[in-house]
Amino acid sequence: MTKALRSELRLAVAGLAACIIVGWVIGQPIVVPLLGVVVYLGWQLVNLNRLLLYLDDDDAPLPQSSGSWWVALKGVQRIRARDRKRRVRLRKAVDDFRQAASAMPDAAVMLRDDGEITWLNRAATGLLGLRHPQDTDQQIVNLIRDPAFVEYIEDRRFEEPLQFISPVNENIRLLLRVVPYGSNRNLLLARDVTRLHRLEQMRKDFVANVSHELRSPLTVILGYLETLRDDPDADESLQRPLEQMWEQSQRMCLIVEDLLRLSRIENQPGAAPRNVVGVAEMLTRIREDAAKLSNGAHEILLKASSQLRLLGEYNELYSAFSNLVFNAVQYTPEGGKIEISWQAEDAGARLDVLDTGIGIDAHHLPRLTERFYRVDKARSRKVGGTGLGLAIVKHVLMRHDATLQVDSAPEDGSRFVCHFPQARIQTVAEEQTVSSGG
Ligand code: ADP
Repeated sequence: MTKALRSELRLAVAGLAACIIVGWVIGQPIVVPLLGVVVYLGWQLVNLNRLLLYLDDDDAPLPQSSGSWWVALKGVQRIRARDRKRRVRLRKAVDDFRQAASAMPDAAVMLRDDGEITWLNRAATGLLGLRHPQDTDQQIVNLIRDPAFVEYIEDRRFEEPLQFISPVNENIRLLLRVVPYGSNRNLLLARDVTRLHRLEQMRKDFVANVSHELRSPLTVILGYLETLRDDPDADESLQRPLEQMWEQSQRMCLIVEDLLRLSRIENQPGAAPRNVVGVAEMLTRIREDAAKLSNGAHEILLKASSQLRLLGEYNELYSAFSNLVFNAVQYTPEGGKIEISWQAEDAGARLDVLDTGIGIDAHHLPRLTERFYRVDKARSRKVGGTGLGLAIVKHVLMRHDATLQVDSAPEDGSRFVCHFPQARIQTVAEEQTVSSGG
């Protein structure tokens, strides 16, 4: 029991005792104590009313009172002052945050889970064309109509950033990220990456131009070297250097061709077209070419469902799949086995290329698809590798919304798997499995 309540009780008991004594003295032992109780209750009600009025009005002055009521009122005043200070601090923090977010060069838009805008900064007006406060409570997809943007927001593909052209200025390229926060809120951030994009484009153009410029002189050199090499009257001592020059020029030609192929794929905008591609027939052709390359040194098995068609670009897919199969042949010693399969899986379809070859150490796997990355340079050169095959595979798969998975261990062979999503697969009625080599 608090001190205030104890003294309140003491006062009430003393008052009641006084009323009883006075009642006895003046011969009214019931009426006087009853009157005392009524007066006491009235006083309590008056104080309760003061408290309620004080609670009702934030700006009301502290009412005067006494006893335990005064203690209670002072307590309420203290809590209210603390609360006010906290609110001021919170408002300042929110203001600070908004000012900082407003000053950011990146566009920031706060969204409810259903895509309605709750707040946006100044850069969002410059980069995305959104206005504050007119556009608050509007669906963002009704204001930014770019199909890639709408699809990104509606399908909630927030793990990956999205590049798209600013709706305000078609010369500005934006990189968009959506970060979920709190309960069912999203923060959309858009950054101007025009300069980076231009640099990247310059790099691609440079590689494409250099490769293109090198192609003609190399073809001429190779032509002369071939003639000289085959000349029966040529000096015997020149035979070996000519042979080596021809080999190196051939290698350069292959690199230039692969560089050109890679830049053609890289320079294609957006996703690959959705032509119907018969993968089983394509793999049959690749298997035949691989058998020629192997020259009977390997067992090459193919199992492919002709029911599953891919929606994509034939030449690009041919290039990617043949690179995987030819690698399997080149990095598998004589007597090894190569298995190619094309089949349905849970979320779409997969192409597997499995070999019993030299395998790859785990620490190389994350870098395999980089341009010119080779595990063993000498070996790659010996088999005529350009170091660009898997980079081509990666880009082709990206354009087909597919992913590459590599499982391998040294001396244990490798498995390269391309996973294609259901949206890229067309299933035709007649089931027929193409298999060869077994
Ligand atoms: P390359 O033209 O050198 O074969 P790729 O880009 O096709 O270039 O492959 C990169 C590297 O990955 C190769 O140099 C090789 O070391 C390794 N590699 C690719 N496929 C296989 C495979 N099936 N088995 C073992 N190593 C492989």
